[in-house]
This record gives sequence, C-alpha cells and structure tokens, in this order.
Amino acid sequence: MTSPSFHDRLRLFDLPLDVITLPATLDLLGGWLADEARAPHTVVTLNPEIIVQSRTHPEFVRAVQDADLVTADGVGIVYAARQLRGEEVPRAPGFDIVKGLMQRHGADLSVFFLGAKPGVAEVAAQNAAREYGVTVAGVHHGYFGPEDDERVARLVAASGAGLLLTAMGAGRQEVFNQQWRGVLGVPVMIGCGGVIDVLAGTADLAPAWTRRMGVEWIWRVAGDRKRWNRAPRLLQFVQMVAAEKKRKG
Ligand code: UDP
Repeated sequence: MTSPSFHDRLRLFDLPLDVITLPATLDLLGGWLADEARAPHTVVTLNPEIIVQSRTHPEFVRAVQDADLVTADGVGIVYAARQLRGEEVPRAPGFDIVKGLMQRHGADLSVFFLGAKPGVAEVAAQNAAREYGVTVAGVHHGYFGPEDDERVARLVAASGAGLLLTAMGAGRQEVFNQQWRGVLGVPVMIGCGGVIDVLAGTADLAPAWTRRMGVEWIWRVAGDRKRWNRAPRLLQFVQMVAAEKKRKG
C-alpha cells in the first residue's frame, strides 16, 4: 500500500478520504499507469452507501482502509467532511475518473471490464473502444460466487490490463479488488458501481445539471424503483453524521 503523501488524507468515521481534485486524481493514476513496475493499486470512490454498508461488514472497512486512493464520489461525502472535519473536499466521482482516464490515454489504455449482467460488459467495451479509442484487454460479467474469484482474478491478470473496472455493486467490488490485488496485479483497479451499465447504455448517466450540483444520487434513487429502498440508508447516513458530530462535541 502506498499512501499518497502530497495531498491530505482525512478520516471519516474509520475510513480514509483523500483531499484530491479530479485533475489531480487523473495525474496520480496516470503515473501509476506509466510505471513499468506495474505495481497494483486500488481506488475507492467513497459515497454514503459505502459508509453505511461497511458498518456491518468488517472486510469492506478493511478494503477501504487499505485502498491506495479514496476519493469523494459525491455531495454526501463533501457534506460529511464539512460537518465532521470542517474541510472542503473536492469531488472526484467514479464515472468522471473512468471517462477522464479514457479521454487522456486513449489507445494507450488497456481496460478490463469486469461486472454487470452477462453481455453488458461486451457492449460497454465496444462503446468505450469506439468513443475513446481505448484498448480492450478483456471482459467478464459480475455474477459469480467467491468460488470463482481466483479464476476471474487470474483471467484479469493474464490480460495485462492497465485499468480494471470492477462494477459488481458496492462492497463486493471493493473487497474483490483488495483481496485479489496481488493476483490481479493491475496498476489501477477501481470499484465503480454502475459505470459499465452507463458505458453500455443500459443505465442513463444522471443529467448534467444534477452532476454539476453534485446531487445525481437524487436522480438515481428517484428514477429507479429498485433503489427506493436505499433512501432510508441516506437518511441513516445523515443521522450518523449528526451523531458523530455531537459525540466529538
Ligand atoms: N452487479 C454485478 N454482480 C452482482 C451484483 C451487481 O455485477 O453480484 C452489477 C450490476 O449488474 C450493476 C453494478 O453491479 O451493473 C452495480 O449494481 P448496483 O447498482 O445494484 O450496486 P451499487 O453499487 O449501487 O450498490
């Protein structure tokens, strides 16, 4: 694990949070990609769901604690950092990181698309190759059990990818990247939720205005019935922040 030393790292609850802008994130990851040693690195884009879900999942907490970079995915984390640390933390959302890397590196970027329902990663890969000119190292769906983890990790390793997009849902994706990082051996591995669905066009990216305001989660929760049951988790997050603030006096 390499802790970035040239930007601040805060602590939110028991999780780290790097104070880093999107352009600085792209510079940092670009350095990892360019390094001939191909040292593996994991990236977590922190959001309120991760904080709430990880409370009951110690392995998930460890995966975030051991990540090389933890960025603020959205406005919920910016709010929590302001409330609990009195700091203004810039956002570096998962989708923007992935798109930024693809735009910057084009054909020099070899990407493995891991996650989503069978068939979706293939479409995401085709679209990314067409739109950004990236090289497709490989694809695999995200519906396999722990007994297949090692096989999939070895498949990714053999592909020689520079960037691994792991989109298998919060928790599963971060733990997979961290647990198998030594086998995977990919310079940049990022847990990135619905990004493969968005690249494939099977899920819409929230409209630009919600992203500018940092409130795309409202769009996602409201527009997707499956996600309605997640709204209480966001409320739980606000309550957790308030309780922690009170506790710290
Ligand atoms: N997903 C997956 N394997 C699973 C569960 C989910 O590949 O076992 C994929 C799902 O198809 C979607 C992405 O992970 O492409 C994000 O899923 P979801 O929105 O349910 O998770 P979140 O990250 O919002 O918790």
